[in-house]
Amino acid sequence: MNTKLPLLPTSVVGSYGSPSWLLTALGEIEAGRYGETDRSETFDDAVRLAMLDQERAGVDIISDGELRRSGFFHGFYPRFAGLDPLPPRRRVGLPSYDTQERWRVRERLGVPRGLGIVEEFTFARAHTSKPLKVACPGPLTFTILLELNDVYPHHFAAAEEIAPAVNAELRALVAAGADFIQIDEPSFVTMPGELTEWVRLFNRVVEGVQAKIALHVCFGNLGSRPRGKRTWRRIFPALLEARVDQFVLEFANREMSEIELWKEWGSDKELGAGLVDVKSCYIERPEDVAERIRQALRYVAPEKLTVNPDCGFLAMPRWIAYRKLVAMVQGTRLVRRELTGREE
Ligand SMILES: [Zn+2]
Repeated sequence: MNTKLPLLPTSVVGSYGSPSWLLTALGEIEAGRYGETDRSETFDDAVRLAMLDQERAGVDIISDGELRRSGFFHGFYPRFAGLDPLPPRRRVGLPSYDTQERWRVRERLGVPRGLGIVEEFTFARAHTSKPLKVACPGPLTFTILLELNDVYPHHFAAAEEIAPAVNAELRALVAAGADFIQIDEPSFVTMPGELTEWVRLFNRVVEGVQAKIALHVCFGNLGSRPRGKRTWRRIFPALLEARVDQFVLEFANREMSEIELWKEWGSDKELGAGLVDVKSCYIERPEDVAERIRQALRYVAPEKLTVNPDCGFLAMPRWIAYRKLVAMVQGTRLVRRELTGREE
C-alpha cells in the first residue's frame, strides 16, 4: 500500500450499517418504482455516506461499505449465467440462513460480465483519498446458496468452475489500482474435513494477484447469528497454508477467547483482529477496545496487528455501527500513545 499507515492501523471488514432511507429505497426498487438513474443515484449516495462515516470516525483503511451488494454476496448471483432463482425453503418467522433465496444450477456456470467489483472499486477510489480495502467473496461463499443437480456433483466442483472468474476479477481490480484485497470465506469454519482441498483452490484464486491479500473467516454473522462451531482449532493451523498476507478473524464476540493461539501457531502473517463486537448492541468504550488490543499484543507483534471489527455491520443499525467505529479508532489511539509516546 502506498500511503504510510500508522502503527496498529484500523480498518473494517464487511458491509457497513445501512442508512434507513436505503432500506426504504430497496423496497421501492424491488417494487419496480425506481428507474435506472434513480437506482444508481441511490447506491452512489449510500456508498458516499458509508465512506464519509468511516472517514469521520477516523478509520485508517476504509471500504466502500459494500452497500451496492444485497447482503455481502447475494447481490452477485444475478450476474452468473446458468442459474435460476428458487424461493427460500422457509419464509415465515425469523430471518436466518434458511430463509435466503437459493439458486438452481441449470447449466455450467459463467460470469460473462465479471462480478462488478471493479466498477465498485473505481467509484470508491474516485471518492476518497484514504487507503482502501476491497472485499471479494471466495468460491466457497458463492456456492453456498446453489442447489446442485447433475451439472455439478458437489459444491467443490461448482467452486472450481467459479474460481477462474474470481481470479480474473482480482487481477482486474489490481489493474484498476486496488492494492489491498480481502477474500471472504466465512464458511471455511464449516469445512474442517475438506479444508486442504479448499485452501488449494483458494491459492489458485489469488495466483498472480499483485496486491496485499487478506482472508476473512468468521463463525457466521447472518442476522448476528454464528453458523459454525466457535473454535479456531477446527481450521487452524491448516488454514495457515493459504497464501495470504493477513488473516482477518473475529475475537471480540467471544471476549478474546483463543487469541493466544496466534502465538502457538507461530505464523509470520499479519493478523487483522476483530476487536469490536458486531453481534452485540453494547457499544464499546474506547477503553474496552484498548484493553482488547493490549490482550492481542501479548500474542501478536504490534507491527503485525491491524484493528478491525469482527465482521460486517450488516445486522447493526447504522448509528450503532458508527459509534462502534469511533470507539475502535479512539481505543486504538490510546494504545498507540502508550507504544510510541506520541500524540496523534
Ligand atoms: Zn464475517
